[in-house]
Amino acid sequence: MLIDKDNFKNGKKSEAEKLRESLFMKRTHGTISLGEEKQNKADTFCEGYKNFIDKAKTEREAVAFAIDMAQKAGFTEFDLNKNYKPGDKIYYVNREKALIIAIIGRSGVKHGAKIAVAHVDSPRLDIKPNPLYEISDLALLKTHYYGGIKKYQWTAMPLSLHGKIIKRDGTSVDVAVGEDENDPVFCVTDLLPHLAKEQMTKPLQKAIEAENLSILVGSRPFKTDSGSELVKLNIMRILNEKYGIIESDFLSAELEIVPAFKAKDVGFDRSMIGAYGHDDRVCAYPSLMALLDYKGIPEKTIITVLADKEEIGSDGNTGMKSAFFRYFIADIAKLDKVDYRRVLTKSMCLSADVNAAFDPLYSTVYDQANSCYLNNGVVITKYTGSGGKYGTSDASAEFMGYIRNLLEKNDVLWQTGELGKVDAGGGGTIAKYMANLDVNVVDVGVPVLSMHSPFEVVSKIDVYMTYKAINVFFSEEN
Ligand code: MN
Ligand code: MN
Repeated sequence: MLIDKDNFKNGKKSEAEKLRESLFMKRTHGTISLGEEKQNKADTFCEGYKNFIDKAKTEREAVAFAIDMAQKAGFTEFDLNKNYKPGDKIYYVNREKALIIAIIGRSGVKHGAKIAVAHVDSPRLDIKPNPLYEISDLALLKTHYYGGIKKYQWTAMPLSLHGKIIKRDGTSVDVAVGEDENDPVFCVTDLLPHLAKEQMTKPLQKAIEAENLSILVGSRPFKTDSGSELVKLNIMRILNEKYGIIESDFLSAELEIVPAFKAKDVGFDRSMIGAYGHDDRVCAYPSLMALLDYKGIPEKTIITVLADKEEIGSDGNTGMKSAFFRYFIADIAKLDKVDYRRVLTKSMCLSADVNAAFDPLYSTVYDQANSCYLNNGVVITKYTGSGGKYGTSDASAEFMGYIRNLLEKNDVLWQTGELGKVDAGGGGTIAKYMANLDVNVVDVGVPVLSMHSPFEVVSKIDVYMTYKAINVFFSEEN
């Protein structure tokens, strides 16, 4: 290094410096390489994203939001008995929890489709089927956590309740409490430090028991009547007045507990966004917008899928292991009189999901040369998995090459990333389920700090670059 510096003195680059420039990989901070105009575009795009994430805290709300946007953009619900022509805009809803949106291309799906898939479920606390109980004059709701959470992060902060209840007469009621300024909120209590001597010595995994993640929902008894469970009775009375439900209606409900706060800019420079549920709505929104914003008629049919159940392994009929996506492809393949299997084989997919951004406070779990960083753009992840690439689709060199070339020539700021050190842990995405359908697929998405916590952090530039990446993927004619 010193020798190079000396050679630099006369204003000329040394041979080593020139060679280094042409051969070595460079990492540039996004704000430096992008310039102010693109940064402003990113900031503006993220205002729309913040609005989305505040209104779409559950998979049902995300799907409802996306349908509303799609309808406003001229998309209509897919009808099996209708014929579609190039340029037609359609959407298909799966049980209110997953959504497929598509624009029919000039060649339809004869040569395959271009697909972006993201998930709209996030880690949270689900209400148990028989949840309401009273103990020591407090009313609580039992929960069963959903997805990978650190339990201690969910105590002692404002929480809201979202979901749907199917009543005994078959009618349904939607619930959302804790988001409006005037709404009450809920919480999980935690032990005061003064009495937590034993708790504080426990490993994080054990310090908070799952059965202790009960939600505090009331403390005032029904009138002054005598009898047992008067606090619980009072809560049931309130719920009955507001929603017309009785206790057994909890059995046929999907109620989810999520943080009650809204998305906020993070940092004096407002360069980041802190919010609940970036994973993976921070990729769902760009996937949705890239399709809705598409101008003209694409060569191949372009498709965005918003899936459910990723956080618990993509099982269930709204997750990507379900056949609903395959059935949809079969239905649109029929319009072109082609075999849907050949459509899948020729299709390309961006599995849009987040990756773990390098966190200097926990640097030991990352391989710095193979990590993604905040503000370095959309992250392309060749493989996820754990314990020696177990449980990943591992994108091919050819497909990595295609995507890399596409992003480079369209000036999309991008980086590569791996999910931490090989022995540190790991995880998976939807990519492998797409690969199982014989689709060419790679993971792209936004680097996230504090992933799976109630307050995840992303960079605005990275969100925008993920949108750009999906955008150019859809626009590319081959
Ligand atoms: Mn995810
Ligand atoms: Mn996740």
